[in-house]
Amino acid sequence: MSKPFIDEEKSLACVHCGLCLSACPTYLETGNENDSPRGRIYLMRAMQSGRTPINETTVRHIDLCLGCRACETACPSGVEYGNLLEHTRDHLERQHDRGWFQTFLRRIAIEQVFPFPNRMRLALILGRIANAQIIRWLVPSFALKAIALLPENPSDRTLPQTSKCGTQSRGSVGFVEGCIMPVMFGDTNHASVRLLNQSGFDVETPPGQGCCGALYAHSGQLDKARECARQNIAAFEKLNLESIVINAAGCGSTLKEYGELLADDADWRERARQFSDRVKDLTEWLETSQFPARESKLKVTYHDACHLAHPQGITMEPRALVKAVAGNRFIELPEAEICCGSAGSYNLTEPEMAERLQQRKIDNLLSTGADICVTTNPGCMLQIQAGLKKAGSKMRVQHIADYLIAPDG
Ligand code: SF4
Ligand code: SF4
Repeated sequence: MSKPFIDEEKSLACVHCGLCLSACPTYLETGNENDSPRGRIYLMRAMQSGRTPINETTVRHIDLCLGCRACETACPSGVEYGNLLEHTRDHLERQHDRGWFQTFLRRIAIEQVFPFPNRMRLALILGRIANAQIIRWLVPSFALKAIALLPENPSDRTLPQTSKCGTQSRGSVGFVEGCIMPVMFGDTNHASVRLLNQSGFDVETPPGQGCCGALYAHSGQLDKARECARQNIAAFEKLNLESIVINAAGCGSTLKEYGELLADDADWRERARQFSDRVKDLTEWLETSQFPARESKLKVTYHDACHLAHPQGITMEPRALVKAVAGNRFIELPEAEICCGSAGSYNLTEPEMAERLQQRKIDNLLSTGADICVTTNPGCMLQIQAGLKKAGSKMRVQHIADYLIAPDG
């Protein structure tokens, strides 16, 4: 038996009750127990004990997991599925050979591009060129699928280091700019900072911050994720901040788990805990009293980004904010908490399942008759917008910050 890669005690918390099955998107789609939370936990334990080999078949079931953590919300035994999954993937990346295409896709095309804004800018330019009708036939289908996810009008804007609220300040908050957000959704970052200013806070966006590490943590690169954590902690800890605010759900859940990520690092453990304790999602920070009801004919619905709803347990706050503005024009989305298939870079590494879940989300969205779908994560925005476009729908997808700044904009 090799060195344990998952915490045996954490895995034994699963009592195989099956209450998580109906919450698991991949189980809902395949009906295969190996694609369910308890099936995967069983596989992790079997691989750890050597009862099951690490091979194409077993890795396949772990790869197909979205990491959405809906199973954690459903689980009455408090199983820390995200922790088990991250450590399993970290182990599999060292033990399993994926072949050249998946290795290129994961280690180069995704990990060497997404966390680096300038490389991302270059990728957007190349994507636009490759999408031109005259050369599209030369472009491989996997690249065309990735291109279809790109926003038509990305807003490339960085934030100033300090944004003053302009009135008597109630204090200062930090803001995590992210790596995808300033390249594709710069306007959303600016809207978020304006909302924080309107709530009476100065906003600091310190230099030296970088990728939150979510991309690495979710793909079995825990050491790289730890490096990102140390960089961000160092960038923010010199400042005297009430909180550190983030507007991207996937990044927020990783930032809130730095304490756990660096739990075995004696030099950083406490600093990581202090950092994570101060992290707030934008929707936790804003108050509904800031947003009076607005007259409009547009109907609005809300899609729960998995990493806001499940690891962070934030579902009421964004709804309350949207409802404050929309009133009875708000329509609840069926299966709002089921993943849209984006799941970080999952829609690139697992396009088939991602498309099935995208279609499921689009069917649910269209059933609401809404004009606007509000959400809180850039990956969800890209995935849902691409699905709506494919379906020929005119429904718009808006980040909650953009919706709150200009509800009909
Ligand atoms: S993960 Fe939780 S809900 Fe799912 S089978 Fe195990 S104990 Fe039950
Ligand atoms: S993280 Fe999501 S996809 Fe993976 S087992 Fe849990 S519910 Fe299923």
